[in-house]
Amino acid sequence: MVGVNNDVRRVVLATSNQGKIRELTEALAPLGWELLPMQDVTLPPEDAATYEENAALKACTVSLATGLPAIADDSGLEVTALRGEPGIYSARFGDRKNDTERNVYLLERLRDAKATDRSAKFVSVVVLAYPDGHLETYRGEVTGRILEGPRGEQGFGYDPLFEVDGLGRTMAELDVPTKRSVSHRGRALAALRDAHRDGPPERETSKLE
Ligand code: IMP
Repeated sequence: MVGVNNDVRRVVLATSNQGKIRELTEALAPLGWELLPMQDVTLPPEDAATYEENAALKACTVSLATGLPAIADDSGLEVTALRGEPGIYSARFGDRKNDTERNVYLLERLRDAKATDRSAKFVSVVVLAYPDGHLETYRGEVTGRILEGPRGEQGFGYDPLFEVDGLGRTMAELDVPTKRSVSHRGRALAALRDAHRDGPPERETSKLE
């Protein structure tokens, strides 16, 4: 580990997912932070049981390796007819190796389930980890339903199959500002922006009873 620097104005993005990098960069721009790529840091396997733990694992690993605060998102799609699958396993659903194959697999699984209820939600947990071990955690969700075929060219992952409740459009049909305002990650990042509007939020001090 290098020296400890808790100054939140220089933050490392603990992800190599280009879609997430784009969304994090755009959503955090109003804070004026310098956002750095994680470069040669290797992320740990995401083998924890919750989004919160996986995001903390990624952010802490990068923060410890760089000596700077680091931000990570762990996210997933939860489909009602599949009892919440793929959830925390969304990035490796069915062991398929890319977004297109995972989308095909999701449609197959829903056909097999003879699903009439195609409701679903996206969940995102964003963790900002400081080199001294302090964590901030923010969560966002968006509800919608899985279509029978893809629509739209924007975004990444399951976006073309996910129609957002109340909009009648898939996530892949939304322009960047609209996706940012309605999406799970956009909502988690809005909570982070709010908390940092007047500088880093006060840390809760734990009391010994
Ligand atoms: P992880 O957070 O790196 O474990 O990956 C989460 C996976 O969930 C991604 O690889 C995508 O397949 C999916 N996912 C997460 N957020 C989104 C999104 O905003 N749109 C579409 N798919 C997403």
